[in-house]
Amino acid sequence: MLRIVLSRTLPRISGISNCQYSAAAIPVPSAQPEVHYNKLFINNQWQDAVSKRSFPTINPATGEVICQVAEADKADVDKAVKAAREAFRFGSPWRRMDASDRGLLLSRLADAIERDTAYLAELETLDNGKPYAVSYSVDVPMVVKCLRYYAGWADKWEGKTIPIDGDFFCYTRHEPIGVCGQIIPWNFPLLMQAWKLGPALATGNTVVMKVAEQTPLTALYVASLIKEVGFPPGVVNILPGMGPSAGSAIASHMDVDKVAFTGSTEVGHLIQQASGSSNLKKVTLELGGKSPNIIMSDANMAEAVEQSHFALFFNQGQCCCAGSRTYVQDTIYDEFMERSVERAKSRVVGDPFNMKTEQGPQVDEEQFKKILGYISSGKREGAKLMCGGGVAADRGYFIQPTIFGDVQDGMTIAREEIFGPVMQILKFKTLEEVVERANDTKYGLAAAVFTKDIDKAHYISSGLRAGTVWINCYDVFGAQAPFGGYKYSGNGRELGEYGLDNYTEVKTVTIKVPQKNS
Ligand code: NAD
Repeated sequence: MLRIVLSRTLPRISGISNCQYSAAAIPVPSAQPEVHYNKLFINNQWQDAVSKRSFPTINPATGEVICQVAEADKADVDKAVKAAREAFRFGSPWRRMDASDRGLLLSRLADAIERDTAYLAELETLDNGKPYAVSYSVDVPMVVKCLRYYAGWADKWEGKTIPIDGDFFCYTRHEPIGVCGQIIPWNFPLLMQAWKLGPALATGNTVVMKVAEQTPLTALYVASLIKEVGFPPGVVNILPGMGPSAGSAIASHMDVDKVAFTGSTEVGHLIQQASGSSNLKKVTLELGGKSPNIIMSDANMAEAVEQSHFALFFNQGQCCCAGSRTYVQDTIYDEFMERSVERAKSRVVGDPFNMKTEQGPQVDEEQFKKILGYISSGKREGAKLMCGGGVAADRGYFIQPTIFGDVQDGMTIAREEIFGPVMQILKFKTLEEVVERANDTKYGLAAAVFTKDIDKAHYISSGLRAGTVWINCYDVFGAQAPFGGYKYSGNGRELGEYGLDNYTEVKTVTIKVPQKNS
């Protein structure tokens, strides 16, 4: 059954397709993994918050407290930045380390994470609510691949020699930016940590990372592995804490050289403003989306239905790139709707530690209520509720897989990021019309088109204002390929070679020579 569930749920996640995961290959999880680390990780030491404050982290499947976690504040951010600055000092062990050895440390970190896959997957599921089968076979393997990918780059990120005019020798160096603040969300706690650490460490920076208050546990365990594999003290500092206190202290810190943020567009604005009113630190943002997923009448119906289901419902709908505006050509609209509703009704919602579960709880009560609010607004504004629409369990934050039909472009559910298991299906007639409507959004993170006609696919893909376009597939990610947004969906790119640019200063060095020869 699990093989069926996984092959239906995760048919195209790059890197997963090659792994032969099956129920037999996934160890039976413990639903109560022991929590080993709940303090701040600064300078390779576990520390209480200066304020001695802590906050509870909650199991979203039950609403119960898992444990208390130290709560970083401005004073702790200052300590962590100081440690990161010292680790970045000219002549420090980290600065003098061979680039190949930085790569080796990242490789060893990947190995240690891979060794502890089952435990990390259990902890991720406990804290976030995503199904264990997914944590085990998607999140953790993608973390390992990301770190290995960037480990390989450490000694290959080269500058250039440049033939400038005159008797000079000119070259560029790719240097680390310095102390990087990194603020990550709760929807893919481990993976977002890896996306941020990989390029930052490969290029020789030091890091102060604030993890999401909803899901601090796996990042802290990874911190213990960072120490275990031998990263020097201060190179990576991990702080659980709240956004408006710890997060904001990083964003406005005068001694942080760069900040990388993933989360809501609303907070993205604040991060950019904080840079502008502090030290103009470099800012990269990976923000929200309202991604169009276009189904042309000639698409393979079964594939389009399954992939569109996956595009929206994967990870409880909590994906920044979720295909949350499904545009279906009028001639196939009814059949697509009928089959999508049938698929949504068959989605297995429940205990995330059960191997058959496809959908666990939403991450917390706030998101749960927010999503139910969007469902009410869909009904109120005249969309047609085709299935779901309510709470799926009597405890925890479970929501029924929900589909709205007859959705109009101006409705709130067609314009705002819901971040939950709520699918909007919209009808269109012509290709030109759908490209225009697809682009009529402030966001530009991702998009997809399903068609057997490659000319149509190219035409649509070149017209879409989005950082990623998938053709006849969805959510295909590889550490090698860049990801990021147009418009309000952010700036800069993560992953791939492009991801290194955002962690690099380019230094031009020009040397007078007696006589140049070509
Ligand atoms: P958020 O943007 O508030 O939180 C993301 C991270 O930013 C967390 O670590 C948080 O503590 C931190 N943060 C919050 N306020 C901050 C501030 N003033 N300064 C610095 N850091 C701050 O997101 P959320 O409240 O957890 O979720 C709200 C909505 O954001 C979701 O419904 C969803 O639409 C969107 N979201 C998007 C992503 C994504 O991957 N792009 C991830 C999570 C949430």
